[in-house]
Amino acid sequence: MWLSKLFRKKSLPQNLKKRASQKQALVEIEANCPASMKRCVELASEKGASNWLSVLPVEEHGFHLSKGDFRDASCMRYGWMLPNLPSKCVCGSAFNVDHAMVCSKGGFPTLRHNEIRDITVDLLTEVCHDVAIEPMLQPLTGEKFQKKTVNIRDDDARLDISARGFWGGRFEKTYFDVRVFNPNATSYTCFEVASCYRRQEQEKKRKYEERLRKVENASFTPIILSCTGGMSKLTTSFTKKLASMISEKKDTPYGSVINWLRCRLGFALLRASIMCIRGSRCKRYVRPENNILLATSEGHLASSA
Ligand SMILES: [Zn+2]
Repeated sequence: MWLSKLFRKKSLPQNLKKRASQKQALVEIEANCPASMKRCVELASEKGASNWLSVLPVEEHGFHLSKGDFRDASCMRYGWMLPNLPSKCVCGSAFNVDHAMVCSKGGFPTLRHNEIRDITVDLLTEVCHDVAIEPMLQPLTGEKFQKKTVNIRDDDARLDISARGFWGGRFEKTYFDVRVFNPNATSYTCFEVASCYRRQEQEKKRKYEERLRKVENASFTPIILSCTGGMSKLTTSFTKKLASMISEKKDTPYGSVINWLRCRLGFALLRASIMCIRGSRCKRYVRPENNILLATSEGHLASSA
């Protein structure tokens, strides 16, 4: 015990020195790279965005990528051109990584959203009560809201997740809504990365928070992730609290839980992004009806004995 303390005391200044020199190297790299690469470096420097590179590729824990997926992930990380992409999408638009991240053909952005939602539900179930997927909100009966953007017209309004006992007491209900966005999309590149997260959070809060507080007597936490592996401020707080609850319940060090959690989310986002790019968007095959009489008549098929 005393030996480990001594070692820690001796190695701390060395760590600080190393970290300072790494920071200095990063400043120099950023100063000398073009604007597009600067954005890539900034996104890759976010917490959780590089876990897939630093963790050992252990298949049974889901920390692995195929050869092609690893190549694609590396290209996306540095904004390099991906090999063998089609020039045109099935929807008619020019095909590139940014289009692939939002194109609804094939339903990949929805699958990406659902994957993050399901992982969150899975983890919340470990530590919370009454966890529900897509819970319906109570219909409105003339309630008035200060914010005009509150989602009031939709009586079938649902959020992604609800759970009790996350923030506050064990009966306190919290609703969560997930969004995964592409910070390299043209509509976001004019904003700072931090501002992109903030805008997404504010948009979700404007839409739901007042209604949830007044009608459902519940709190609201938007879960905003970028497809490059970063997360918003509120999502970071949510992840830290979740890791702390799991750590306490499983009697596992907090540091291990938070790293595992970031890694799990990181790989899920990475796989989903690669699926958006490489997944098949072919038009659905429509099976011809087995109308035997019509086929026999229109096809001039002779009947045999
Ligand atoms: Zn498309």
